[in-house]
Amino acid sequence: MIIAVDGPTASGKGTISKRLAKHFGLPFLDTGLLYRAVGWTVHQRGGNADNSADALAACAFDDDLLDNPELRSEAVGGLASRVSVHPEVRQALDKRQKDFAGQPGGAVLDGRDIGTVIAPDADAKLFVTASSNARAVRRFEEMKRRGEQVDFDDILTDILRRDDRDQNRAAAPLKPAADADLLDTTNLTIDAAIQQAIALVNAKTSGRRDKDPA
Ligand code: C5P
Repeated sequence: MIIAVDGPTASGKGTISKRLAKHFGLPFLDTGLLYRAVGWTVHQRGGNADNSADALAACAFDDDLLDNPELRSEAVGGLASRVSVHPEVRQALDKRQKDFAGQPGGAVLDGRDIGTVIAPDADAKLFVTASSNARAVRRFEEMKRRGEQVDFDDILTDILRRDDRDQNRAAAPLKPAADADLLDTTNLTIDAAIQQAIALVNAKTSGRRDKDPA
């Protein structure tokens, strides 16, 4: 069973995806981490994230890099969003994601184009959203908990900038697949959002089993 989870930054999709993977006993891939690894590598090499050749050259990163906590920072998220507009970069990361999705037994993947490009035949597709204000509040609280100096307006501006870049790029823009279920987490606790996500996946997959009793 393949579960595709897409949505904008700080929508809750990462937490929901991990819990779905645990609930259904499936391996999980955070595809944003791959773009973050490319953005981080370009930066380390003194390259320009907006230059497609620099970004493409950074796609051959070492797998160990994915465990580097620096990839999780806001700054690297911004770099990831910039390198991800290049079609060459998306192409270079495509096989790795499709192989993960196609492994025996299936998988959960989260990102921006999983339901539309990477796994268009996924058994269940969720598009997780929340208002930009709610997402900025969550990011603000999370960074404060980590002891970082944060300004709410800066965070909101950054979220809006990233949304704009992810939604309006030509290559695989962030948008719900036509057959995705929308899950708006603005007014939900994380536990309630997870329960709804599980219910949506069950509704999709038992529906399929009913049609194909074998
Ligand atoms: O999900 P995360 O915030 O880690 O993603 C970082 C950036 O990587 C996103 O803002 C987006 O531009 C890009 N991305 C993408 N396609 C994916 C996953 C992430 O373009 N499947």
